[in-house]
Amino acid sequence: MQTSLSKADQKELIGLRRFFHSHPELKFGEVKTSARIQEKLKEYGYQPQAGMAKTGVYAMHSDNKGRCILLRADMDALPLQELNQVPYKSQNSQAMHACGHDMHMATLLMAAKHLKNEKISGNLKFVFQPGEEGGNGALRMIEQGILKNPKVEAAFGLHVWSQIPTGQVAVSPGGIMASVDEFELTIRGKGGHGAMPHQTIDSIVVASHVVTTLQSILSREIDPFDSVVVTIGKIQGGTTFNIIPEETVLKGTIRTMNKETWKKIPRLFERKIAGVTKAFGASYELKLNRDAPVTVNDPKMTEFVREIARDVVGSANLVNECRTMGGEDFAFILREVPGCFFFVGGRNEKKDYIHPHHSPRFNIDEGSLFVGVEMMKKIAKSYFSYFSK
Ligand SMILES: [Zn+2]
Ligand SMILES: [Zn+2]
Repeated sequence: MQTSLSKADQKELIGLRRFFHSHPELKFGEVKTSARIQEKLKEYGYQPQAGMAKTGVYAMHSDNKGRCILLRADMDALPLQELNQVPYKSQNSQAMHACGHDMHMATLLMAAKHLKNEKISGNLKFVFQPGEEGGNGALRMIEQGILKNPKVEAAFGLHVWSQIPTGQVAVSPGGIMASVDEFELTIRGKGGHGAMPHQTIDSIVVASHVVTTLQSILSREIDPFDSVVVTIGKIQGGTTFNIIPEETVLKGTIRTMNKETWKKIPRLFERKIAGVTKAFGASYELKLNRDAPVTVNDPKMTEFVREIARDVVGSANLVNECRTMGGEDFAFILREVPGCFFFVGGRNEKKDYIHPHHSPRFNIDEGSLFVGVEMMKKIAKSYFSYFSK
C-alpha cells in the first residue's frame, strides 16, 4: 500500500500511537488522552470541543453547507497489566491499550490533520469517544447531542483487527459485531442439611438444570444459521460440603448477531428459567442488562467503504466477510444513523503480533496505521460526491 504521508507525518503518526499506548487510561478516566487529542487538534487548526461524556472530544471541519458525517475513534484502555517488552510499554499499572484504541485515535488525528486543508463539500465531525469497553460511551455522547448540530447523516469507524494480516481491510454488510447482554440470576430454594435433601429445595441442583436448559435456547429455538452465545461465567452458591444452600447466583453473558433474535432473547430466556425453577418449586430473580445492541452495517455504506478499500489496499486485500461475537458500542450510533464499521488488519506473524484483543501480549503492526489514515481520509473526501443528493 502506498501511503500519502510524508516521512515526518509517518513519524508523527507512530509517535502518537506510542504516546497513547504508553499512557493508557480506563473508561471515563481518559484525562491525559483527552488533553493530548485537544492539543493536537488545536495544532492542526481545529477548535476542539471537550467534556462530552466526561472525557470525550470532537472537532468540526465545516463548510456550513448542512450535510455532515461523523468519523469516530474510541479512547479507552483495559484494566490489564501489559506483558510486552517494548520501548512504548504501558507506564500505568493495570492499564493497557490491549484492544488497539491507541491506533484508532492516532489514525483519526492524522486523518484530521490531512483533511484540514482539503475542500470538502460537507461537514466532518471528528469524534473521540471515551468508555467503549463496557462504558457505552457512544450512547452517552448520543444522549448529549453528538448526532445533532449539525445533524449527522452517516457515521464511520474502524477497528484494528488482530485476526487479519496488515495490509488487508475487512468490510461486511449487516450484523458484524454481536449484541452484549449481561445477566445475574439468583435461584432461591430452601436450605438445609446435605444428608436430608427431601426437606430442602436444592438451589444448586436447580441452577445446574438452568445452565443446561439455557443452552437449549441455542439448539432448539434459534435458527441454526443464526449465531447466539450464552455463557455462564460465574456460579456462586453454598458454604461447605454438607449444607444445601438456600441461594445460588449465576452470572453470564448473551451475544447475538441478529436484531430480531436480540429482541426475542429476554422472553425466551426468562421462559426457560421460569419453567425450570417452577418444576423444582424454587423461585428466581433475573437482572438482565442490555449493554449494546448488534452492530449493523448499512448495505449502501458498506458498498461505499468497500470501494474505498479497493482503492486503498487493492481488491485482493479486501476481505468481504469478517464478523465477531465481540461487542462494540459504535452499535448505538449505527442504530441512529446508517454507516459502516470496518476492520483494518494489524496482524504480523513474523513480528509475533498474533495475540488476540484483550490479551496482555496484544500488539499491532504499525503498518495498520497508514491503512487506517488512508481509509478515513478517502471516506471523508469521497462521501459527499458518492452520495450526492
Ligand atoms: Zn475491546
Ligand atoms: Zn475495541
